[in-house]
Amino acid sequence: MFDNLSEKLQRAFKNLRGQGTVTEENIQEALREIRVALLEADVNLNVAKELIEHIRERAVGQQVMTALSPTEQVIKIVRDELVDLLGKDTARFQFASRPPTVILMAGLQGSGKTTTSGKLAAWLKKGGHRPMLVSVDVYRPAAREQLKVVANSINAKIYEGDTKGEAAGTALVERLAKEARREAVITGCDTLIVDTAGRLHIDDNLMDEMTRLKALLAPQEILFVADAMTGQDAVRSAQEFHRKLALTGVVLTKMDGDARGGAALSIRHVTGQPVKFIGTGEKPDAFEPFHPDRIVSRILGMGDIMSLIEKAEETLDKKKSEEFARKALSGDGFSLEDFRDQLRQIRKMGSLQNIMKMLPSVGPFAGMQQMAGQVDEKQFVRVEAIINSMTPYERNHHEVISGARRKRIANGSGTSVQEVNQLLRQYAQMRKMFKGLGKGNVLQRRAMGMM
Ligand code: GDP
Repeated sequence: MFDNLSEKLQRAFKNLRGQGTVTEENIQEALREIRVALLEADVNLNVAKELIEHIRERAVGQQVMTALSPTEQVIKIVRDELVDLLGKDTARFQFASRPPTVILMAGLQGSGKTTTSGKLAAWLKKGGHRPMLVSVDVYRPAAREQLKVVANSINAKIYEGDTKGEAAGTALVERLAKEARREAVITGCDTLIVDTAGRLHIDDNLMDEMTRLKALLAPQEILFVADAMTGQDAVRSAQEFHRKLALTGVVLTKMDGDARGGAALSIRHVTGQPVKFIGTGEKPDAFEPFHPDRIVSRILGMGDIMSLIEKAEETLDKKKSEEFARKALSGDGFSLEDFRDQLRQIRKMGSLQNIMKMLPSVGPFAGMQQMAGQVDEKQFVRVEAIINSMTPYERNHHEVISGARRKRIANGSGTSVQEVNQLLRQYAQMRKMFKGLGKGNVLQRRAMGMM
């Protein structure tokens, strides 16, 4: 997501950096490049224009801040403006003072509404809530069946209701919605997620039904689910739904696809409603709250250390990781045994490529983002095999691993002496680098501890 935009913006900054001093002229050039990058990412034309104007005003009239170089100042301005554009704070999710909190899911067919309803339920469950799902798409039995499959896969409650013998229509929709809310109260569910009927296009019947549901349920949240890949079309339908329903937020799905990012960057400005969540895959956990500042950091190549840390905290064994970080940053360094443990932990977090993409492209991790594409995940299997073939003593005293031992280890792990040599060389470099980082700042140290 945002890969292309990110690359182009960073190129604009790089050109600016190469200039030595920032003059009015090369700011113009950088602004031109930024504008092209935004438009190529399918950002709404007015949004792009306004953004560039703001950046220009601030960049040209900027006060000289001694702590930042002129280029860094321009980057900071772009960063601040982008964060403003996306809505400064992480959008809060509203809960009812008296449960159940009702969340009405709106959107066109195929946008990912049913999948997202399930993801939202899974996210709420993870946060200690007790969600209940209901589908009121009485026109498409398959859609109701799909929600049931989704609910079962995440072990969430679903209200199915009895629709036999009753004609599909608004009366049935309203009855199901009312029954589901009662069921949520009786069974102690604190949130009710209502998956509604989607249509291929916005029509009066659909809007009428949504309006009635809104009046009936008085939902705390009306979330518009939009497919990010449809770019400005998603923005237009969000605008239309907002006019009729007064949305409380947007969920952008399929951000893992080759969406250029235009919808994400325009929706807030055009509709006034924040993007609250993004969908990043088909699985129930491919879903995250939308943090404007983190997303902008990612776009500008500053990485997303906060999300990385959160992900790590969810998956890694905290005690082990802290112990590793402590050893690695201390004068003694970490052993190959520690290294193997840590490798196993990191592999639990998913592909290394995705992890590396979240690192900043400047500072101690410089170049790692760019290297992400070249990572051979199988290499980890080989590295682990090599370490497995060492004796425990060798793992804790790498200095005794002589030529003869290297040969034995290579044979035992089905690798070559060169690969064993390479691992030992890299291990020595890493130990040195970590020790050096012992003096880095806290965030860097925590991130490094995970790596
Ligand atoms: P609905 O008609 O709006 O209820 O849409 P569905 O929930 O049935 O989703 C339509 C298709 O989009 C399905 O194949 C989903 O698996 C897929 N989908 C939904 N969200 C995402 C996402 O965030 N990423 C990807 N890659 N696919 C998604």
